[in-house]
Amino acid sequence: GNKVSEGHVNFTIAYDMLTGIRVSVSHCSGKMKPLIKEDFKSTKKLAFDFHGNESTPSSQYAFKFKDYSPEVFRELRASFGLDPAEYLMSLTSKYILSELNSPGKSGSFFYYSRDYKYIIKTIHHSEHLHLRKHLKEYYNHVKKNPNTLLCQYYGLHRIKMPMSFQHKVKHRKIYFLVMNNLFPPFLEIQKTFDIKGSTWGRITNVSPEEQEELDKIQNGDGDDESSIIRSKPVLKDLNWLDGNERIKFGPIKKREFLKQLRTDVNLLARLNIMDYSLLLGIHDTTKMIPMGDNDEINNNEQDDNNEKTNQIGNSIFNHYFKQDDGGIRSSDQFDQDGEIIYFIGIIDCLTNYSLLKKCETFWRSLSHDTKLVSAIPPRDYGNRFYKFIEDSIDPLPKEDFKDNPKKNN
Ligand code: ATP
Ligand code: CA
Ligand code: CA
Repeated sequence: GNKVSEGHVNFTIAYDMLTGIRVSVSHCSGKMKPLIKEDFKSTKKLAFDFHGNESTPSSQYAFKFKDYSPEVFRELRASFGLDPAEYLMSLTSKYILSELNSPGKSGSFFYYSRDYKYIIKTIHHSEHLHLRKHLKEYYNHVKKNPNTLLCQYYGLHRIKMPMSFQHKVKHRKIYFLVMNNLFPPFLEIQKTFDIKGSTWGRITNVSPEEQEELDKIQNGDGDDESSIIRSKPVLKDLNWLDGNERIKFGPIKKREFLKQLRTDVNLLARLNIMDYSLLLGIHDTTKMIPMGDNDEINNNEQDDNNEKTNQIGNSIFNHYFKQDDGGIRSSDQFDQDGEIIYFIGIIDCLTNYSLLKKCETFWRSLSHDTKLVSAIPPRDYGNRFYKFIEDSIDPLPKEDFKDNPKKNN
């Protein structure tokens, strides 16, 4: 990713986001009280300027910050095992974020915290409404399902900043959320898939150079430089099918995984959500490259020596699907652990069906192509999604499990 530091076009945005979070989150630090209904609707506003005042310190830029349901998100962070001080450190100890180069089509911006533990995603107004509307359900679901695969939301905020536009000052509102980075900063993910369970347009065309790089990594001889930071193509459903990829889980993990997936998908369908994906990162422990001299990470972390040891923080605590270095190992038909670690989660879960329908109608009117966007009702979307994933699970064949580690030596 690109570093967002002073001078970068989005530096002001990043600065405002992080300053707002720092002040707002540290305000919300008294004794935790049981949540009440009002907490799910409450908002808190802060105004920043150069002079500062009793509730906000002086800030390099003038902007307004709005925090949504701060008490609820604080509880959520605790449920996900985050330490409050550590959370603040990761997000605000320096104004450095890395920008992910346009990962989606939606126009959202993504920023990594400097230690790569958290991702800030800018979202559409309607997505923010959707999260607020269903925050209670999301919260209850997380409490009831400690092993949920759903994206972990840690905060929902808005900044309002002045922008000069044709000699007039306008105010621009940017909604954003803080969530978990599903992938660990210290392990190489050889392949990443974003799976929706539909095949229409679901392919990532990999350039010959990228393919060469991927093959190298696949064979375990990617150079040291081919780090976690360098962006690799995110592959999709058709790449998955073409490559005959399988999630290699034996009976126990398969059962646990499908059970949780079913529960999570049921919630999304009930909340009228669709267009989400299963994000799957594959790390093969037999193809380990040394991560010790990764400059980018080291530079970011020079002054926090402890960070390497607890990189994923406590968010892995007791989570079934994060039990192995923040992910979960493959297993064979006898439930013996294999050599692959999967990092799995359901992402992009704030798209309301009616919104997508609107976009579809818009697209259709432009292209006259009815197949271009295939918005299907949330229940059907969920079933198709579940089925695709269910059909992708196979235990690691026993002989493969025995041979694989040796074959690569
Ligand atoms: P679109 O609506 O066009 O699908 P979007 O802008 O809503 O895209 P997402 O689908 O949320 O974006 O994410 C796009 C990509 O960013 C994902 O495919 C994944 O590579 C990366 N990404 C998103 N969320 C996470 C996460 N929590 N952890 C790691 N990577 C993520
Ligand atoms: Ca998406
Ligand atoms: Ca989206």
